[in-house]
Amino acid sequence: MKDVVILGAGLTGLTTAHHLKKKGVDLCLLEKGSRAGGVIHSVTENGFTWEEGPNSGVISNVEVLRLFEDLKNDCELEIANENVKRRYILKGGNWQPLPSGLKSAVTTPLFTLKDKFRILGEPFRSPGKNPNETLAELVKRRLGKSFLDYAIDPFILGVYSGDPNRLVTRFALPKLYNLEQKYGSFIRGTIKKGSEPKTEDEKKVTRGVFSTKGGLSSLINALKNKIGEENILTGISSLTVKPIGSHFLVSYIDTVGNPVEMETKKVISTIGAHQLDQILPFADAAQLAKITNLYYARVIEIVLGFNHWEGIKLDGFGGLVPFREKRDILGALFMSSLFEDRAPKDGALFSIFMGGVRRAELCDLSDNQVKTILKKEICSTMKLKEFNPDLIKIIRHPWAIPQYEEDTEYRLKAVTELEEKYPGLIIGGNLRNGIGMADRIHQASMLAEAVI
Ligand SMILES: Cc1cc2nc3c(=O)[nH]c(=O)nc-3n(C[C@H](O)[C@H](O)[C@H](O)COP(=O)(O)OP(=O)(O)OC[C@H]3O[C@@H](n4cnc5c(N)ncnc54)[C@H](O)[C@@H]3O)c2cc1C
Repeated sequence: MKDVVILGAGLTGLTTAHHLKKKGVDLCLLEKGSRAGGVIHSVTENGFTWEEGPNSGVISNVEVLRLFEDLKNDCELEIANENVKRRYILKGGNWQPLPSGLKSAVTTPLFTLKDKFRILGEPFRSPGKNPNETLAELVKRRLGKSFLDYAIDPFILGVYSGDPNRLVTRFALPKLYNLEQKYGSFIRGTIKKGSEPKTEDEKKVTRGVFSTKGGLSSLINALKNKIGEENILTGISSLTVKPIGSHFLVSYIDTVGNPVEMETKKVISTIGAHQLDQILPFADAAQLAKITNLYYARVIEIVLGFNHWEGIKLDGFGGLVPFREKRDILGALFMSSLFEDRAPKDGALFSIFMGGVRRAELCDLSDNQVKTILKKEICSTMKLKEFNPDLIKIIRHPWAIPQYEEDTEYRLKAVTELEEKYPGLIIGGNLRNGIGMADRIHQASMLAEAVI
């Protein structure tokens, strides 16, 4: 008998377990993979340290800071180099910095003159009335098409690998949605919010870009230390949950093939929506389908390392490629510029993304075809004469990023109904509450609170 069983040992499951352990809860994490961490996985080899999943997070809420405070003896928070804040957007084959102030906003070639004038009227435009307005509709209405194409579209590619014509703003970017709904305008809202008094905690939420020294796996290892490895069971299979009275029976096959049964008062699921029908066979199929039909973008992540870099100056966070530009990559992160010791001195390390919602067919290409595309794209966009990387890794993510589209409303309702019908069953994970690492850390606090 356990107090709590947590399904999935990715960032959400591990962080939830950490909070519960602090409160003395007797728990167990069940993970089908051979290691904890979920999509987070860092590798160090031949002078390069790279990520095979997420590359960095954003300090966008206080729970992120509290977590690193808890873990400060086990892992070291690394904030991205302040000098490389610049984000580049590809237009006509050249990288243009995304404007960061009034002067650059006026002079940038990214937006049309008409839209630059149009933005002056943004504070006076009335807020939208359609709660299911897509991001594309919202941005066109308030800012104009060129802002959609060369600011929001690439941003959405970078975060969701998604399509702004399909993502619903109130689910995908709730802060942006609330800015318009609460203050009537993005500009007025940003100014008003900036002048509102902040608590000491809020002042620390800098929106800085973070990783951990040695890569994000250090964060996972620190969490594992806190939870106790004996409480994390990896390599399990055939996991199912069954309600029995006020408890749950959790069954699975352990690593050596033995069937195991475990009783628990509470079950917290942090696994992807597409896996839930196998795990919760008792739930009403039609209701569960509203949750499991969540669409995940497929993505290919390519890690490229160069011992000596001879291309463009890497003085930024990275570059994003708007869909309109009709290229075969979504963007590239300049990882060796962002964080220390990711590549040999004078070398460079990139994380490059392909595929996503609008170019899903690229995910079916063979490794050789992917390399051919990379050679063409990297040589032309990074002004590289020869394509001879010293490191190349191709990582395929078939269930990478959930897309919060119009059906989200029905999904969230189905989750609530399921939780109410089976008290003690708590459904978390990236099917709700946001997709980024900071969102996952925030949700973990909520999941732990729901139990306590
Ligand atoms: C390629 C990629 C790049 C990303 N880049 C960024 C980024 O730069 N910044 C950022 O903030 N976020 C990024 N994200 C998002 C971020 O990585 C995730 O939100 C976060 O790591 C997800 O953590 P999680 O624990 O919710 O899910 P996961 O990491 O998916 O963990 C879920 C766990 O459940 C396990 N599981 C699944 N089914 C079962 C089963 N049947 N039985 C037992 N266990 C099961 C899985 O094996 C997995 O370990 C990226 C995601 C991807 C895929």
